[in-house]
Amino acid sequence: MPAQILDGKQIAAEVREEVKQEVARLKEQGITPGLAVVLVGDDPASQVYVRNKHRACEEVGIYSVVHRLPAETTQAQLLDLIKQLNNDPQIHGILVQLPLPGHIDEKTVIDTITLEKDVDGFSPANVGNLVIGDKCFYPCTPHGCMVLMDKTGIDPKGKKAVVVGRSNIVGKPMAMMLLARHATVTICHSRTKNLAEECRQADILVAAVGKPEMITGDMIKEGAVVIDVGINRVGEKKLVGDVHFESAAQKASWITPVPGGVGPMTIAMLLKNTVEAARR
Ligand code: NDP
Repeated sequence: MPAQILDGKQIAAEVREEVKQEVARLKEQGITPGLAVVLVGDDPASQVYVRNKHRACEEVGIYSVVHRLPAETTQAQLLDLIKQLNNDPQIHGILVQLPLPGHIDEKTVIDTITLEKDVDGFSPANVGNLVIGDKCFYPCTPHGCMVLMDKTGIDPKGKKAVVVGRSNIVGKPMAMMLLARHATVTICHSRTKNLAEECRQADILVAAVGKPEMITGDMIKEGAVVIDVGINRVGEKKLVGDVHFESAAQKASWITPVPGGVGPMTIAMLLKNTVEAARR
């Protein structure tokens, strides 16, 4: 039996609708949630992401400002802007679009965003809170994966979860969130020996590698839930995930498509975090 589809497009639309209603409630109390997005330089992919985030905010009634700075902006100038936004009462969330130009230290920049406004959840303090299970913002992409499962009635409790990839923005926080939900978690990476064998143990398999279709059906346990975070451009137009969809879908019970799986969830979670920041 081929797998059922974890429909990120539809679930993201549901989340955006919930956010819209929450924004309306906050507005009745005189609070308009506000998000500031900072873009340095003219990376074409970043421009698309920033435009999409701005549009998504407008659709749900979140006030959104985009600060577009030239590539030659100094680190000091960028930090000044962030400090200004930290003190701006109209702004509840601050997002600095990565990657930044090479002369700017991303770590310093992210660490300058005040904890209360770190809606991307990348600052060391927020990550620390995530690890110890304290109040924090969940990083948007892994949070999106969790909500996909929650809204489909998939409970990680007691399951064996394998996360392939250990980046700070996806793999590591994903593993922490699964652990917090009582999964037994294995994290795999480029030095893992016998990746296929590790993957075959997974009741829940999350792929966040950045290698087109590298997880194939023979690496998947019968009935597993497969979440594909990867977005890889092959050729001119085609997007594929890190999972080989056709073969994996023959084994999995649930699987995310690419596009239309995790991707749409990421922006929806940013909106959710911004509203949460305003509510706090
Ligand atoms: P990174 O490049 O930062 O991390 C990739 C990870 O995969 C690393 O931990 C690396 O291991 C591991 N890896 C690389 N090759 C192998 C291999 N052959 N076997 C096992 N592990 C391997 O990527 P990101 O986490 O930022 O992103 C991962 C993917 O998710 C990308 O395709 C990206 O485009 C996509 N993405 C999608 C988002 C969405 O909204 N859907 C948001 C963010 C990312 P090591 O640490 O040892 O180098």
